Parts: sequence; C-alpha cells; structure tokens
Amino acid sequence: MKNAVTTNIAIDGPAGAGKSTIAKRVAHELSFIYVDTGAMYRAMALYLIRQNISPQDPAGIEKACEQADITIVYEDGEQQVLLNGENVTSLLRTEEVGNMASASSPNPKVRRKLTALQQKLARKTDVVMDGRDIGTQVLPDAKVKIYLTASVHTRALRRYQELQEKGSAVSLEEIENDIQKRDEQDENRENSPLRQAEDAVLVDSSEMTIDQVAQKILSIYRERENA
Ligand code: C5P
Repeated sequence: MKNAVTTNIAIDGPAGAGKSTIAKRVAHELSFIYVDTGAMYRAMALYLIRQNISPQDPAGIEKACEQADITIVYEDGEQQVLLNGENVTSLLRTEEVGNMASASSPNPKVRRKLTALQQKLARKTDVVMDGRDIGTQVLPDAKVKIYLTASVHTRALRRYQELQEKGSAVSLEEIENDIQKRDEQDENRENSPLRQAEDAVLVDSSEMTIDQVAQKILSIYRERENA
C-alpha cells in the first residue's frame, strides 16, 4: 500500500524575523496546518523553570525530558501546547521562557524528543512549520524551504511593539541585547545550529510588509508545484 505523502513548507530564521506571522498567513492561504516549533521548546523551558532546573544541568534536563509530556492539539485551527495535560499556550511567549528555551534547546535529548514530535505532525498532514532547524534537520525533504531574516534592529523593534501591546515594560535596548544573545546561542551551538539550508531561499523582511513576504513565499510554492 502506498503511504500518503504530505506537502511541507519549512520556514527557519532568527528570533523576531516574523516567522510565525508569515507562516500562519501562508498556512491559511494553502489550508495547511501551521506548526510553531518554538512553542514546543518554550513548553520544555517552562517545565524546567517550574522545576528549578538550570540549563547548565544536563542530567536534570534529561530527566525532565522523560517527565515532561508535550502534546500538540488544534482548537479552531490554532495550535495549543499541552504540558502534562495542562494547556500552557498563553504562558509561553515571555522573555524569561524564551531565554530559557534558547539556553536549553541545544541539549540533544530535548532536540531528539521535539524533532520526533514535529516529524510525526508533518507526516500526518500538510504543514507550514517554523523554527531554527526545520529545513536542515526536521524536514530535509520539505517542498519549499525559506530562510527568513531581518536586521537585529528591525526584529527588536517588532518584538518591542508586540510586548508593549501586551502591557509588558521591557526596554527596546534590553530586547535588542536579548535578540543578539539569542542569535549567538542559536547560531553557535553544536547541535542543529541555526543556519540556512543549502536549498533554502533567503528572504530578508527588513524592508518588506507581511503581505509582501507571504506573497513571495506563496509564489515560490506555486512555482515548485507547477514545475
Ligand atoms: O521561535 P521562538 O522564539 O519561540 O524559539 C525559542 C527558542 O527555541 C529559540 O531561541 C531556539 O533556541 C529554540 N528553538 C530551536 N529550534 C526550533 C525552534 C526553536 O532550537 N526549531
């Protein structure tokens, strides 16, 4: 019997490049499912914070991988992350959780656990998946691979506006420093570093609107589909 083959789009890039907004838009246009892999690393990070486990404690992190059950469900088309049965989606997008995610995500056991979950989702259904290593490690056979980036300043400004709307009092300078530090950690780690896949298309969104970026990705997808 022939296996059902799914079509996948991988969008990688640094923090704040607009991956999630763009990926959601593209997924909606194509009726694909949007998979936010950062949220999975953040759920793992939340577990570590709650258990008081340091990112410098590999044995503690490995034990946590066995104890933290991370499940993805969809409600009204929106991804929800369950951590040991609790819906933690609304707790994940803080600077504290993001920094812990960046510090703990190099751990090979964390990566193995979450990569397996991501690959399982992509085998079941057509997805637009965003992250850091989707085109290079998770979905090396994705139909379209995009490396989405923007200048550090543009990315910091976007995150600053997003956090301000939520009433969070973080300074632009703090965010710029956090972004720089996170880029460095993500690019220089030994396991699955953030880098552009050889067959990925580079898109710099610094001077582009969300709509322009989404249209560009959709046109790349349609070209490939008709090729
Ligand atoms: O994209 P987001 O900011 O939610 O990701 C949080 C952190 O999770 C990143 O800084 C990165 O260290 C890690 N991550 C990863 N691989 C992915 C997605 C996120 O290592 N595919």
